[in-house]
Amino acid sequence: MSQSQMPTSSAAAPDNQRTNGVVSQPDNSTPPQVLREPPTGKQFLESLRDGREIYFDGKLVKDVTTHPAFATSARSYARMYDTLHDPAKRDALTFITERGARSHKFYKLPRTHQDLFEARDAIAEWARLSWGTLSRGPDYKAALVGTLAGDAEFYGEYAPNVWRWYEKITDAVMFVNLSLANPAGDRSKPPAEQRDVYMHVVKERDDGIVVRGARLVSTGAAFSNVTYLSQYVPITGLAENEEDFALAFFVPFNAPGIKFIGRHSYEHLAKKVGAPFDYPLSSRFDESDLSIVLDDVFIPWEDVIAYRNPTVVNGLFPRGFGQRFALHAATRTAVKLDFICGLLLRATEMQQRSSFRDVQVALGELIGMRHNIWALSTAMVADAQPGPGGYLLPNTGYAMQWRNSYGDMFTRARTIFQNVLSGNLIQIPSSAEDFKNPAIRPLLDRYWKGGAATAEERVKLLRVIWDMFFTEFAGRTEAHERNFAGNYEANRVETYQAAEHQGLNANFKAMAEECMSHYDLNGWTEPTWADVPWSVEE
Ligand SMILES: Cc1cc2nc3c(=O)[nH]c(=O)nc-3n(C[C@H](O)[C@H](O)[C@H](O)COP(=O)(O)OP(=O)(O)OC[C@H]3O[C@@H](n4cnc5c(N)ncnc54)[C@H](O)[C@@H]3O)c2cc1C
Repeated sequence: MSQSQMPTSSAAAPDNQRTNGVVSQPDNSTPPQVLREPPTGKQFLESLRDGREIYFDGKLVKDVTTHPAFATSARSYARMYDTLHDPAKRDALTFITERGARSHKFYKLPRTHQDLFEARDAIAEWARLSWGTLSRGPDYKAALVGTLAGDAEFYGEYAPNVWRWYEKITDAVMFVNLSLANPAGDRSKPPAEQRDVYMHVVKERDDGIVVRGARLVSTGAAFSNVTYLSQYVPITGLAENEEDFALAFFVPFNAPGIKFIGRHSYEHLAKKVGAPFDYPLSSRFDESDLSIVLDDVFIPWEDVIAYRNPTVVNGLFPRGFGQRFALHAATRTAVKLDFICGLLLRATEMQQRSSFRDVQVALGELIGMRHNIWALSTAMVADAQPGPGGYLLPNTGYAMQWRNSYGDMFTRARTIFQNVLSGNLIQIPSSAEDFKNPAIRPLLDRYWKGGAATAEERVKLLRVIWDMFFTEFAGRTEAHERNFAGNYEANRVETYQAAEHQGLNANFKAMAEECMSHYDLNGWTEPTWADVPWSVEE
């Protein structure tokens, strides 16, 4: 480890936290006898009743598991936990940690391609429970803690904290949440000039640090047990003189001074104006992006992962998180595209249009997108490379290409649905209640039916499509799919930067140079072509 990668403040941690940079993994030589099972859905819901301070609609939310803006979506996450106990799914989803706990396979630090393939398949299995609409299952943050633990040495004197948190989170399949981006503020100014808004340290104490500022958005926060806060400054990273902002730490949701401010809830809206039939996705898969405010929050040293160290904070993405989260995201979005293909296939079948050429063109394009994203997910694993600590990292280039391509694909998918289904999408009765009114039910049955579907079947499907692409929930979905992995430009610039770092750009340039080295102003210089007369005479 280079000196520049060490924490910059030697006074940062108490003695019992210091390891002089020597990091040892915990001793797991004696396997424990009693298997610890992950939480059930019920236990997970209980864990959310911890006095957290979430504000919604001007009021403090007392309990997310019963509040109408969150309760139904909370059950969707609880269902994920229950499948870890399902004998039919358990083996595909879980492994036993060295400490004797059953956990999701993506938490296992991968030594082999087989480990990563199994993790990928477990991600897909869980994603199918929401047809890819929940982007942040607890397994998403296995990308984070796996990155930290696989690279623990990089965190210097905080490495023991990395390991302790990795083990704690992995063994309890804790739902961790992550927020890295700064509020909009004034993007023309560097972080150091935005102390009033950006997250930074305001005080160092013997027992920890005091942090102030806000985080832009944190998906799944209402349903998480603990949050990980750090900084991601696109393209440039934090500068060396921005140490006050160069922090990373875990913080529980009920820490004094931490407040969560919710955006509008689509689950809430669905309950106000409709039924599950009308909003089958919004009403149960609203991920609740909360913004986080830290009003002088105390973080004990044992929860600190990086302190006043821009090099370490900037290292999270390139040293593993960028690859690991992209594997999760590519797999989850591949599942979602499977679902989206199914929606269009069923909608066109219901109208007896599957044999039309224009429909098959649209279906072929959509299915091709699905192949693309699955191929990237598979290639990330098949071409995984050794990363820090010797653990395998999903392939960097394919991870970057998932970031670059999926957002535009999702938007293109919406356009395809508009083109193919056009008026179908508008001829949807106002709510399920219309089907219950005998005065109009016979009319609906007659005029709303498809060539191969009853009116109720057809409208039920169109409601899913409307919720996927056109409701308020859908607007947020598209913003998410286009931006959650970084802004549009940063994704592309960072793809270029990564290729430069890996030496790929040098290879590409060498190919161009080699082509041009075969000739000069006087003709061919490469023997293969040099002895052929330069003449058009036969
Ligand atoms: C629904 C949703 C959920 C999300 N969930 C999470 C989450 O759970 N955790 C998390 O950490 N993040 C999350 N994100 C945030 C995501 O990481 C950011 O949205 C993304 O990184 C873009 O950041 P931004 O909106 O601040 O845009 P910016 O980074 O400000 O970029 C917006 C535009 O401004 C340009 N720009 C910005 N600064 C400059 C500059 N200095 N010079 C020139 N051009 C500039 C960019 O190139 C871009 O075109 C989520 C986002 C969304 C939409």
